[in-house]
Amino acid sequence: MLTIQSFCFNAFQENTYVLFNAQKEAIIVDPGCYLRNEQEALSNFISSNQLTPKLLLNTHCHLDHVFGNNFVSETYDLTAHFHKNEQPVIDRLPQGGERWGVPCEPYKGPVKYIEQDEIIKFGNSEFKVLLTPGHSPGSVCFYNKEQDFLIGGDLIFKDGVGRTDLPGSNPLDLIKSIKTQILPLPDTLEIYSGHGPMTTWGREKKANPYILHIQSAQ
Ligand SMILES: [Zn+2]
Repeated sequence: MLTIQSFCFNAFQENTYVLFNAQKEAIIVDPGCYLRNEQEALSNFISSNQLTPKLLLNTHCHLDHVFGNNFVSETYDLTAHFHKNEQPVIDRLPQGGERWGVPCEPYKGPVKYIEQDEIIKFGNSEFKVLLTPGHSPGSVCFYNKEQDFLIGGDLIFKDGVGRTDLPGSNPLDLIKSIKTQILPLPDTLEIYSGHGPMTTWGREKKANPYILHIQSAQ
């Protein structure tokens, strides 16, 4: 059984998630901690709960989702896991930081690429990698079937979907990703998005104008 703790970090109000089990092993997803006090909020949570971080996962590599990658990789000796199509995105980190006025260093830690349908095992739990490009070229979601939840990155939000006007975005890919990867999932699925509150897939199918449009255009 996994417990999900969320943090809202940086100027982009990004959600960072720490998932942990009864053995006190933890996964850190999309560490967006930018400021020193944000890094401390994350590390204090981990130390006060006596957690051992075992995995660093990135849904995608836009700067607001990877600001804390160096910190987490160095502090906990972890390898960042993301899809290979995100390599050019993370390589543009310093330029992106300049453009948005938030200086950032290149990611210097180790990387392991993850693939469509790969199963990531974590203690007694497992996550299926769903490749869901559109918002960025190698965006993925992490699907936990047993507990019926999705770490969705910037694919779907409560009442919204990810922006597709950024370099490397593709609106048609985003629609295709939602149709092929998310539509088959149960209505009860809890979606933990990269921004904003948790929602459920059933709620979004009924009330999210973008999802209503995608369904009606089928
Ligand atoms: Zn993004």
